[in-house]
Amino acid sequence: MGRLLDTVLPHETHSAKETRRLGARVAPLLPPGTVLALVGDLGAGKTQFVKGLVDGLGGEGDNVSSPTFTIAQEYAAGDSYVLHIDAYRVEDPREFVEMGMTDSMDLAQLVAVEWPSRMGPVLPHDAVRLEISHAGGDARRIRCVP
Ligand code: ADP
Ligand code: MG
Repeated sequence: MGRLLDTVLPHETHSAKETRRLGARVAPLLPPGTVLALVGDLGAGKTQFVKGLVDGLGGEGDNVSSPTFTIAQEYAAGDSYVLHIDAYRVEDPREFVEMGMTDSMDLAQLVAVEWPSRMGPVLPHDAVRLEISHAGGDARRIRCVP
């Protein structure tokens, strides 16, 4: 699995568009049901990357926004959907279970999580961790991290 990702990562981008396009290249490389933990500061480009993930699975990436109040949003992609979770405002991982999020995660083609540390034990052990970091100006470095 990691091997396939190694064909495109690590990668440095220089615009939001480029980060989005990288997401579109990454998504088809991930086996169905992959949970992607997106690690990075505010403004790193995690949401831009998720737009690309949705594009890459045949969905409408333009519809992806930061789910301010909803925490999670499903975006149709092919026969299934991309589940986009922004855990920033979650205070207790038990909220995810109460929301029925684990069922939604189980059925998704791809789960993309911003602020995965807030999910605590609800984040699967086999989640693929990608880090997006500022690299000066509009440059961003995207890589797999352990
Ligand atoms: P996050 O979800 O990580 O908080 P967003 O994707 O919402 O970040 O926002 C990233 C911001 O940085 C956007 O305003 C985007 O236009 C800007 N930006 C500038 N350069 C890049 C880049 N190389 N990749 C991604 N976003 C970039
Ligand atoms: Mg975001």
